[in-house]
Amino acid sequence: MEAILQASPVAIHLLERDGTVRVWNPAAERLFGWARDEVLGHRVPWVAESQWDAFRRHLEQVVQGEVLPGLELELQRRDGTPLHVELWTSCVAVPTGPAQCLGMLVDLTERRRSDAFRRLLFEAGEVLPASLEPDATLEHLARLAVPAHAESCRVYLEDTDGRARCVVSSGLDARASRLDAQAHAPSDAVVADVITSGEAVLHAGPPSWLCVPLGRRGQPPGALTFTTSERAYDARDVALANALARRAALALDNARRYQEALRTIRTREELLAIASHELRSPVSALHLQVQNLRALLDRGPDAPPRERLQRGLDLMGRLTKRQAHLIDALLDLSRIHAGRLELNPEPMDLGALVREVAERFEPELAGSGSLLTLTLPSETPGRWDRLRLDQVLTNLVSNALKYGRGNPIQVELSGTDAQVRLDVRDGGIGIAPEHLPQLFHRFERAAPGRAFEGVGLGLWIVRQVVEAMGGSISVHSEPGVGSTFSVLLPRQRG
Ligand code: ADP
Repeated sequence: MEAILQASPVAIHLLERDGTVRVWNPAAERLFGWARDEVLGHRVPWVAESQWDAFRRHLEQVVQGEVLPGLELELQRRDGTPLHVELWTSCVAVPTGPAQCLGMLVDLTERRRSDAFRRLLFEAGEVLPASLEPDATLEHLARLAVPAHAESCRVYLEDTDGRARCVVSSGLDARASRLDAQAHAPSDAVVADVITSGEAVLHAGPPSWLCVPLGRRGQPPGALTFTTSERAYDARDVALANALARRAALALDNARRYQEALRTIRTREELLAIASHELRSPVSALHLQVQNLRALLDRGPDAPPRERLQRGLDLMGRLTKRQAHLIDALLDLSRIHAGRLELNPEPMDLGALVREVAERFEPELAGSGSLLTLTLPSETPGRWDRLRLDQVLTNLVSNALKYGRGNPIQVELSGTDAQVRLDVRDGGIGIAPEHLPQLFHRFERAAPGRAFEGVGLGLWIVRQVVEAMGGSISVHSEPGVGSTFSVLLPRQRG
């Protein structure tokens, strides 16, 4: 019997009906922290004063011969840490004296913890995907683990400048928590390391904290931190936090994709509205011109006079050009969206192309009063897609004309062995600084009202083409003084 008591992995004690300890096995020593010699002959140590009467009644019932179910108890160990046990007590007849109570104590801490882990992951599976708003998903994530697993939880995301920033946090009220969440949370440097390495970091404590990466699926990368003063986190907590972070990353990714899809749909609707309006107006104007000329023709054999006919045809020419230009832009838009912007590089002289484009603009330049000056090296060789570069030049020069108010325009080529620089400078209306950051975005227009026709696609397409060639575009502008658009292009030799 003694051997069984010694070897039992279950904590066992034998108590008199008044709670005096008669047997206290090694498993009980390990579970509670009190040694056998400290408790034998004394009142059982783990029963708090406030629970004593209830416990005595329990012992009385047992010795009266009642068969009682297991009792779940929230106790404290000798060192004050909390302990969840199930106590099974039965009556033992002792030949030398009154009946005693045999108690077996099963440690429920681990089982409770596993249940809590399962509940948290189940809840995460329910709650996180339910929101298709990334911000709401992050809010839910921060709240899920508090208070069962953490007194404070934070979610960090990497900024565009690569710095980790706490975007949402949740925590117990300062009165309910023994933890100074600020002082005991992982530092920004630790969070940054976790994001970079993708490896969790654990500070056992207590106070204890852990930091795990938010799975790579969710862009931008981030991290999740838990902090508690209650106990020391261990590897199982890290595994739980990792599992939670993976679920969150998946939900965030879905939410982002959904938002992206919504944006695409909105862009398409916007495009349809703009395109139908912009395509409609030149068609109406063309129709009017045709009707006017028809009416003039019907007046007699000499009508309309040649000069009137010429004006009408010029206008119709401009209208159809505008129409074709818009249709080309819309086609490019859908090509770029579908990732089908193909480039066909060939050896060419960019200076020659600039001269060709400038010649094409001669009639419009003459009409606007703008003077176009070219500053070109004798040769500017490289390998580029000729048609696409023609499009870039045409867009920039036509904007310089459109927004240039008749002022001089300069096109300059310069560069090094590795790259070429193209500057298109005008002395026109310029662009207000607040419009500059958005200027190369789709449908962004800085020009006031409808004073200048256009849909805001030209510069966006120019940027897409230039970037597809490995180059970049920038603008320097001052309202009322003018703008310079600068394109840097690698020569793409070889
Ligand atoms: P669009 O000219 O069709 O509106 P773009 O994409 O070519 O579209 O240009 C976007 C906006 O940038 C224009 O609406 C205009 O406000 C501004 N912009 C472009 N080029 C110039 C320029 N040379 N001077 C002043 N503003 C310009």
